[in-house]
Amino acid sequence: MSANSVYLAYLVAAVLFILTLKGLSSPISSRRGNMFGMTGMAIAVLTTLSLTHNVTYILLAIAVGGTIGAIVARRIEMTAMPELVAAMHSLVGLAAVLVAMAAFNNPVAYGIALPGEPLHSSNRIELFIGTFVGAITFTGSIIAFGKLSGKLSGRPLRFAGQHWLNLLLGIVMLGFGAAFFMNPSWMPFLIMTAIALVLGVLLIMPIGGADMPVVVSMLNSYSGWAAAGIGFTLNNNMLIIAGSLVGSSGAILSYIMCKAMNRAFFNVILGGFGGEAAAEASGDGEQKTYRSGSADDAAFLMSNADSVIIVPGYGLAVARAQHAINEMSKVLSDKGVKVRYAIHPVAGRMPGHMNVLLAEAEVPYEQVVEMDEINNEFADTDVVLVIGANDVVNPAAKNDKSSPIYGMPILDVYKARTVLVVKRSMATGYAGLDNDLFYMDKTMMVFGDAKKVVEDIIKAID
Ligand code: NDP
Repeated sequence: MSANSVYLAYLVAAVLFILTLKGLSSPISSRRGNMFGMTGMAIAVLTTLSLTHNVTYILLAIAVGGTIGAIVARRIEMTAMPELVAAMHSLVGLAAVLVAMAAFNNPVAYGIALPGEPLHSSNRIELFIGTFVGAITFTGSIIAFGKLSGKLSGRPLRFAGQHWLNLLLGIVMLGFGAAFFMNPSWMPFLIMTAIALVLGVLLIMPIGGADMPVVVSMLNSYSGWAAAGIGFTLNNNMLIIAGSLVGSSGAILSYIMCKAMNRAFFNVILGGFGGEAAAEASGDGEQKTYRSGSADDAAFLMSNADSVIIVPGYGLAVARAQHAINEMSKVLSDKGVKVRYAIHPVAGRMPGHMNVLLAEAEVPYEQVVEMDEINNEFADTDVVLVIGANDVVNPAAKNDKSSPIYGMPILDVYKARTVLVVKRSMATGYAGLDNDLFYMDKTMMVFGDAKKVVEDIIKAID
């Protein structure tokens, strides 16, 4: 391919990547967005292959990696998606470090130096930044994977002087980076890489389980910047553009998630949530009373209502109850009940989790309403069915200043006339907090697995 055709193909791929992000911003256009992404990636990979003389190794690597990826992606449960993403980010980080090492080992072959000439100063900076961002991403993502998959404790690990140690290591790492810049040799390069690997562990260990998804999104952003760094090393504009898109969209997503959880970004990064919240919640031994009922009671209340709002949460995903709930909505709609779904931005365990589940069950998009739009309507609603959700409907976020989730926006379910809550027990949700909604006079708990309860409700309505 001529140089111009390559630039043109990369430009087309870059535009397709931007259209992908645009498409993924709404469930209605997300399939189209994914198609743009796959086409863009195919163009980018094929164009890059056309630039390579010996494609055998690359094709072999694509075959092996692609097979492993396809098998893992098919097997993975939707609820384990964040840990899979964390594991994949670690590979991007490792790739950035290995490419930088290979390029430094043979800069002439990588086209970043002429034979017998030293590395250009801008290439030294690129190698240095790409390596340390990649190394931090690599080990940080492994720790995040361990915490999310339960292989490591989700509790924040803290010790005195932790932040000072991190700062000191950061400064020493930059010092070796400067030494590498002045005189490119393996010694400062390897020491800098080793410190960055340790920093990745130290930065993520103090972050509690509850903040892990934000961390995954932040590591997603780092992996994008690491890829952009490799793009500079390899003089590949496509990689620079794709890496920057991933880097900036990951950073925006981290910000949105922090906002939805009412967490300050720097508090997340400096660590400490999760463990404390759980400890506080288990602290008060006060006995409170609640009302419970059966699936038949729930069916009676909903089929006699004018309007029902369904609030799905993490438990819906665990029980894989999305198809059953869609079936139940159809049965209720046929009886003339107005049914809608209220979506909280951090319900479940990843952004958009509920939208994805409901889309999978082919719930009509017009029934799915985001939090800001539906919050005014709870007061005029006969029955709200909270199914496997807990933190996102906890009124403590509004009226208990001492609560760790105080200030987090919630779905105003407590304003509805009757509230039905489907879950297996009175156990707490992700933040480890008790929920006063469950003890209100207007609330009826329906205990059981979400899917089983919904199936029983459908039978009772019919
Ligand atoms: P929660 O984790 O607060 O509550 C889920 C509830 O589901 C639990 O109380 C559990 O109760 C119930 N449950 C579990 N399995 C089942 C089942 N099989 N059938 C019925 N019920 C079940 O979930 P929410 O969605 O309300 O809130 C999400 C939480 O995750 C928030 O704290 C949010 O900040 C956090 N988070 C979310 C992120 C995101 O991007 N979505 C990112 C970061 C954090 P029981 O055990 O009694 O059944």
